[in-house]
Amino acid sequence: TVTIGILALQGAFAEHETRLQNLRLKRKIATVLVKTPEDLQRCDALIIPGGGRCDCPRLESTTIALLARLSGLLEPLKEFINAKPVWGTCAGAILLAQSVTGAKKDGQELLGGVSVDIARNGWGSQVESFEAALDVNGLRDPSVPFIGIFIRAPVVLALAPDAPIQVIARLPPHLLPEPIEDENDPRTIVALRQGLHLLTTFHPELTRDDRFHDYFARKCVFPTVSALS
Ligand code: GLN
Repeated sequence: TVTIGILALQGAFAEHETRLQNLRLKRKIATVLVKTPEDLQRCDALIIPGGGRCDCPRLESTTIALLARLSGLLEPLKEFINAKPVWGTCAGAILLAQSVTGAKKDGQELLGGVSVDIARNGWGSQVESFEAALDVNGLRDPSVPFIGIFIRAPVVLALAPDAPIQVIARLPPHLLPEPIEDENDPRTIVALRQGLHLLTTFHPELTRDDRFHDYFARKCVFPTVSALS
């Protein structure tokens, strides 16, 4: 079995755990809710969650980073990201970004690992949440769209030139909260991969569809763990 940790400082960690436990692959996966550096040491891969719909409306990536520092997890998390697969959803995606545009000076501690610049609440504070049917490259049953739930979602502003980034889902132009002419505009990107890492600006754990968790396990986690062992 492989052990997938879920950072459990704040946000929708329980929902991520439920999705992993429902996978067809579940016999091969153990889950750990990570609150301490010792918990993290047991993990082969990690999910960094974002905030759910109503459990914690004040959840911010800044708070998760602060709690990570207080728990002594900040440096261990950075080391983990250098070596093992990590998936960030929403606030977790912000933490994996290399930079955040518009962040107050000294106001945002990041973990890094994915070469993107991102904006928090990037659709504007008036866009609290929305849903969109997404075509996602590489999911099981690809003809069935994946319903993306976006909650005060971050927006990808730019990809570092030459970074080995694979875009796996974009918002279709007619579903964008604000009009964007160019379909290659990075702001349309809502899921991407870079090396071992997966980043989604929406919340796959808040649906009953486990295909993103299956994707992370099959494409990012299992190949890495079998290569290491
Ligand atoms: N906007 C939040 C942040 O800055 C993220 C919201 C979420 O995770 N649903 O971290």
